[in-house]
Amino acid sequence: MSVEGLCQICESRPAEHRCENCGALVCDVHFEGGLGLCADCAAQAQPGDADDTDIHRF
Ligand SMILES: [Zn+2]
Ligand SMILES: [Zn+2]
Repeated sequence: MSVEGLCQICESRPAEHRCENCGALVCDVHFEGGLGLCADCAAQAQPGDADDTDIHRF
């Protein structure tokens, strides 16, 4: 409970996590718990085209 400051992405919510890649302090919304990365790093870590939001249906 020693994390202080605001999320470095939205700058509106209290930072609760620290990105393991860039060290950014981010809020719960902008932290990918499964990856341990902030939203920015998680987006860059995504395989393939991050802009492709289409999901192929069965
Ligand atoms: Zn945030
Ligand atoms: Zn990061």
